[in-house]
Amino acid sequence: MYIVQIASECAPVIKAGGLGDVVYGLSRDLESRGHTVELILPKYDCMRYDHIWGLHDAYKDLWVPWYGGAIHCSVYCGWVYGRLCFFIEPHSPDNFFNRHCYYGCDDDNMRFAFFSKAALEFLHKSNKRPDVIHCHDWQTGLVPVMLFENYKYDMGLQRVCYTIHNFKHQGMGGSEVLWATGLNQEAYFFQYDRLRDNFNPFALNFMKGGIVYSNYVTTVSPHHAWEACYTPIGYGLGHTLHTHQSKFRGVLNGIDYEVWNPERDRYIPHSYTKEKLEGKAKNKQALRERLLLRDVDKPLICFIGRLDDQKGVHLVHHAIYYALEKGAQFVLLGSATEAGINNHFWHEKEVLNDNPDVHLELGFNEELSHLIYAGSDMIVVPSNYEPCGLTQMIGFRYGTVPIVRGVGGLVNTVFDRDYDENHLPEQRNGYVFYDTDFHALESTIDRAIGLWYNSPEEFRQLAIQGMNYDYSWNYPGKDYLEIYESIRHK
Ligand code: ADP
Repeated sequence: MYIVQIASECAPVIKAGGLGDVVYGLSRDLESRGHTVELILPKYDCMRYDHIWGLHDAYKDLWVPWYGGAIHCSVYCGWVYGRLCFFIEPHSPDNFFNRHCYYGCDDDNMRFAFFSKAALEFLHKSNKRPDVIHCHDWQTGLVPVMLFENYKYDMGLQRVCYTIHNFKHQGMGGSEVLWATGLNQEAYFFQYDRLRDNFNPFALNFMKGGIVYSNYVTTVSPHHAWEACYTPIGYGLGHTLHTHQSKFRGVLNGIDYEVWNPERDRYIPHSYTKEKLEGKAKNKQALRERLLLRDVDKPLICFIGRLDDQKGVHLVHHAIYYALEKGAQFVLLGSATEAGINNHFWHEKEVLNDNPDVHLELGFNEELSHLIYAGSDMIVVPSNYEPCGLTQMIGFRYGTVPIVRGVGGLVNTVFDRDYDENHLPEQRNGYVFYDTDFHALESTIDRAIGLWYNSPEEFRQLAIQGMNYDYSWNYPGKDYLEIYESIRHK
């Protein structure tokens, strides 16, 4: 099968969070099963060019219709660890992708509406006719809309699978989006069963468009699919999902077992496996040395992730102080886009600066994240909501026991050592709490730290039980292929 992924991220060259990991990992898995996969991405000025091989111009003069005229683009082509990627570079005063950031601009909706249009125009002009186009999140929600409304007579029989990684960000715009992209027809697209937002009658909702117009829609875990339909976590799209329920399901994400592999990870100094865990203790030492933490007989708890309301920052903050109080060390790696949260954690960093048991690393650092996963005993994921969550899965891979809140994909992946009723003791792999108050978090951290101190052998066994799980792309890759097969034109 010939599959084209259209996305705003692909790790490690463009990665703001889990989306990048998923786009890369799924593509590699599909290729390893013998399918042809190509990726179309924006050519951001700030992406990691050191992860692209053989970058060259593949299509020099792509003119993308935009408002009444057209924007001149170049399309570059290169390999990202074996994946064939096309990067679209528009030449216009808007400088859509030369903003020193991936997201967070006032005109994000227009930037990605343009990207979606340019991706389709590129497929059309370069005569690429994939069996399936797989697009991701609100940034590419307009792809199936434009494919069906504007390109189907030129392009033919492409089918679209649309994956929603986060319902919170849906991409909104007004009629300018229609005039810019050539969709026009305001009265038609502002209808409730097309793009009109479910709550704001004056807004078009890109994600809703993606759901309505795609042949299949997924989100990133079965439990989150249920939450999105039946709880406020669907951020107003529950009714739309309900209407389209026959083509909607949750597919649990995987992680790339080549990228995340303690046996062969070039970012960690000591390799290890579940049969030979000694290397993990050496990585803990290396992590302490790197972050100037003292070398004492204490468990090390980490948090890795975006510092965003979604991630339960109030609980992250509390976890740091509670862990210190209970005789653990704490390492945080996180970046915040919101100024208030950013200032808060910079302040905490200053306050804790001289404490030899804690380190806060504020920023995005892929290389360091590997060492933290490898060197920590536990990873805390106290999210308010979590569509899938990759950090607990990466934790499992590195023998780092997760302490999580039971929401979204965390419900599908982490099974409480003491209380899970659906899994045998030897199948349990971490700690789960449900409430968002401090007490729930504290009692769960107590249980984890208690086991580490009082029954080290049992703690080690728990870590190994986590390592026994297969959260690679092995299963989800098959699921996506089944979906592609079911929608492709035969
Ligand atoms: P989300 O997609 O909501 O950000 P996920 O848990 O799905 O969260 O994926 C997060 C991914 O981003 C993981 O690979 C994690 O290691 C990585 N990550 C998050 N924050 C950072 C950071 N500050 N530095 C390095 N990697 C990070």
